[in-house]
Amino acid sequence: MLVIMGPVGSGKGTVIRRLCEKHSFYRAVDTGEILRKKSQEEGPVSREIRQYLDKGLLVPDELVSRILEEEIAFSRRDSEVFLLDGFPRNLRQVYLLEEMLKKLDITLKGVFWLEVSEEQARERMRYRRVCSECGAIYHMKNLPPKVEGICDRCGGSLVAREDDAPEIIRQRWKVYKEQTQPVREWYKRKSLLFYVDASGTPDEVLRQIEIWEEKP
Ligand code: AMP
Repeated sequence: MLVIMGPVGSGKGTVIRRLCEKHSFYRAVDTGEILRKKSQEEGPVSREIRQYLDKGLLVPDELVSRILEEEIAFSRRDSEVFLLDGFPRNLRQVYLLEEMLKKLDITLKGVFWLEVSEEQARERMRYRRVCSECGAIYHMKNLPPKVEGICDRCGGSLVAREDDAPEIIRQRWKVYKEQTQPVREWYKRKSLLFYVDASGTPDEVLRQIEIWEEKP
């Protein structure tokens, strides 16, 4: 397993999608997307998740970890490498991930930290649109679709994510600074951390990860 981390708007989702398109041995696990899907279902757990998503707050650690473990155990195939997006986001989740991987007998090979300035990340989110059908990610200025509002891949309509509203973005950044940055220090001490300059194009970011992967 590889973990892809970075601030809100650093382009984790875009990079992971491209890696999966290029290399069939990668399998993406996007925590935010799994939670968004779960929040659309009926029942008390879905309602609880929705409350956190709507405010830009972290869903309780044990709950996210349980949902994630089910997803990983279910979608597991031999010879595939998981690319984990959005987890762990605080130190408690670091511990929960360790426990989960031990149980599933999966090795964490590295943590890629996508570095981007706050200004650039905010700008990316302002222009972000996602396909309501297949989840493809666009940037209305730098990576626009061929036809406005329509996904190039599947023809689905493009929408802004509800939690990309300015006041929720502010809250998500606050959570990131307070809770997620200590995770970086933890993995650094464990010598598992690799910095990636995420200020360039998706291809430039991809290349930095691929170079690391090519090393023996
Ligand atoms: P993302 O798509 O990664 O930006 O995540 C969207 C939202 O999902 C976050 O603002 C949180 O409410 C929730 N979320 C995603 N990952 C986690 C996590 N590891 N722990 C708790 N909540 C999460």
